Amino acid sequence: MGKIIAVANQKGGVGKTTTAVNLAACVAAKQRRVLLCDFDPQGNATSGFGATDQGKYTIYDVMVGAAEIGSAVLRTKWCDVIPASIDLAAAEVELATVEGRERRLKEALGRIKEDYDYIFIDCPPSLGVLTLNSLVACDTVLVPMQCEYYALEGLSQLVNSIRTVKRSLNPKIDIEGIVLTMYDGRTNLTIQVAEEIKKFFGEKVYSTVVPRNVRLSEAPSHGMPIIAYEKTSRGAEAYSAIADEFLRRNR
Ligand code: ADP
Ligand code: MG
Repeated sequence: MGKIIAVANQKGGVGKTTTAVNLAACVAAKQRRVLLCDFDPQGNATSGFGATDQGKYTIYDVMVGAAEIGSAVLRTKWCDVIPASIDLAAAEVELATVEGRERRLKEALGRIKEDYDYIFIDCPPSLGVLTLNSLVACDTVLVPMQCEYYALEGLSQLVNSIRTVKRSLNPKIDIEGIVLTMYDGRTNLTIQVAEEIKKFFGEKVYSTVVPRNVRLSEAPSHGMPIIAYEKTSRGAEAYSAIADEFLRRNR
């Protein structure tokens, strides 16, 4: 098997990393073999697993051909992680003249794909060469969305990028699902925007929503996913339910 899921949305702060880290940890806790590939130079998914400065190599080394992907994989208590750090930002420039640069991640992950049931890629908040690599490498795209006024505006760009990639570099790409994050069901705006998102994406929208939960924002500073930091929090319950829904949809 080895399904690759890009967690993407070119907007920052919508819950990509929180979703990638916690969904990966929750799916792993349900006895699946999981790898999380941090693909954002900010390295937030890496620190979210307490994996900063633990590895010799990062995904940058893999992208520029300085390391084998296997040697960049770290084992954490929850799942395997390929770390990223700020040098990944330079990969964009360094790869600019390299032929086939948009396939680099796909080729690298292809070498370890069979070792896992699911590989999640935490994408950066842009539609540059890094996100392009993720869209080429993945089977599906999971889109976290915050229910705020401009939520749908930037989304058409992501949908267009997916369409473009589908026409050329990755014909099989599909949308895995939409996860509504930082959801506040008491506000009319949230409810209205959620309705619009459902009109646009239909069945793709997960029925489980992630509420705003302060424990989710605290967990990364302790280097733990929410199920380890506070198992009984609403955030932990939500991501565990999203993992169930994810696995159900992938049966
Ligand atoms: P992205 O990766 O899309 O930039 P993050 O996952 O880093 O977004 O989330 C942005 C900020 O919001 C972070 O500080 C994170 O801890 C916080 N956050 C994310 N989801 C929630 C939530 N459900 N409740 C409370 N805070 C959240
Ligand atoms: Mg992030």
